[in-house]
Amino acid sequence: MREALVQASYLLASVLFILSLKSLSRADTAARGVDLAVAGMAIAIIGTLMQQTIIDYRWIALGLGVGTVIGIPLGTRVPMTAMPQRIAIALTFGASAATLVGIAEYHDHRETLALGQRVAVAIEVMLGSLTVAGSFVAAGKLQEVLPSKPLTYRGQNAANFGLMAVMVVILGAVVAGKGGMPMFYALVALAFIAGISLVLPIGGADMPVVVALLNSYSGLASAATGFALSNNVLLVSGALDGTSGFLLSMLMSKAMNRSFSNVLFGAFGSQTQTAAVGASSDLVATPISAEDAAVQLAYASNVVVVPGYGMAVAQAQHQVRELAELIEKRGGEVRYAIHPVAGRMPGHMNVLLAEANIPYDKLYDMDEINGDLSRADVALIIGANDVVNPAARTDPTSPIYGMPILNVDEAKSVIVLKRGMSVGFAGIDNMLFYQPRTRMLFGDAKASLVKLVTEIKAL
Ligand code: NDP
Repeated sequence: MREALVQASYLLASVLFILSLKSLSRADTAARGVDLAVAGMAIAIIGTLMQQTIIDYRWIALGLGVGTVIGIPLGTRVPMTAMPQRIAIALTFGASAATLVGIAEYHDHRETLALGQRVAVAIEVMLGSLTVAGSFVAAGKLQEVLPSKPLTYRGQNAANFGLMAVMVVILGAVVAGKGGMPMFYALVALAFIAGISLVLPIGGADMPVVVALLNSYSGLASAATGFALSNNVLLVSGALDGTSGFLLSMLMSKAMNRSFSNVLFGAFGSQTQTAAVGASSDLVATPISAEDAAVQLAYASNVVVVPGYGMAVAQAQHQVRELAELIEKRGGEVRYAIHPVAGRMPGHMNVLLAEANIPYDKLYDMDEINGDLSRADVALIIGANDVVNPAARTDPTSPIYGMPILNVDEAKSVIVLKRGMSVGFAGIDNMLFYQPRTRMLFGDAKASLVKLVTEIKAL
């Protein structure tokens, strides 16, 4: 009876995970998706706690206590702008768990494991250990504790492929049951080294794709754990995590113009950022006063707002809505153009704009709005930089060349809200800021928006 209840809870949890993923694919149902996932996870935990194989709850209670103490501040205190590194850190927890379970399983039962289980345990610890190390390096690069520039040396790709080849040979030995625990630990150690050496040569700008890919490795490690332990919910959730992480990394790499094979082998983004910083030293960007910008916006009939990382830093989403409502009251149309990698995580802008209750139907994906940007009277860029950099279209030497961008330079006029002339995440200058139709409203995005709102109200 108890086993039937456990399996029923796993089935229910798996269904909730699938429904959650479906809901997460649309902005207007995403919040419900998160609730469904939380409910699914709670049911899976309760089901697991009912397992008859548990003979002592003390370590579990300790784990729940420690997990809660770490999890609550991670969920509530970390700002949205630091979410990618927070996700990378969270990945290390799941991957460590998979690795440790695999080690314990192999240590205690290696003589009796069937071939399929040995394959699963070997893959589990290999991917788990690789993900732990890779995620730490990714988090360090995103937090800039480690240099975010690619760390490269001559022959690096050959060394990495050599390392992978040795790892595969050792994996084969473990699967064949040769070498005992030393061979098994060699696999864990090599995978750890591979995790570090595969991520180090990748530049910070490519880290989001790496984190999504590591997410998929960690999911596959969990699925292998589920197979080894005959645990259905781990198998299903790991497979969902693995495949959705993989698809996300594919979609992101497409948005950042990275090729499939580069993503698959993790050896991408290793070009140095020979940024065009300083290329514009003779050029001068034209500033605009809040007063003049307000007049332009107030009389525009078609405004496209492009939010970027700076809007997130300034937490200016509520002021964006206030400004948009004022323009709309005066008869103008306001739409929002969302680049898939604007900000610092997929969906970053959608989440912030939703927080300010901006209607979803006013949000347009890059592909939907790009063809229409030439009709915009004003493209209002709020703290965005790389995602509107025309060098991606025009300069083959640029590190972001080929990345699809929002073609705001085609708009009739462009107003950019940013604090100064600093570069964005990719570390490169942006010629958009020097174009004749572009005006710069310097200052913190929130402060500038407050000024614009005040000026428009006074008109
Ligand atoms: P960028 O990082 O290119 O540029 C942000 C700009 O915001 C900066 O140039 C900065 O200029 C400005 N800014 C910062 N703070 C403020 C503030 N308080 N008020 C006004 N402006 C401010 O942002 P984008 O969104 O255009 O591009 C995202 C970049 O991040 C891409 O390169 C993408 O590849 C990368 N990335 C994306 C992730 C994702 O999944 N979305 C994850 C990780 C990286 P100044 O200092 O002069 O104000």
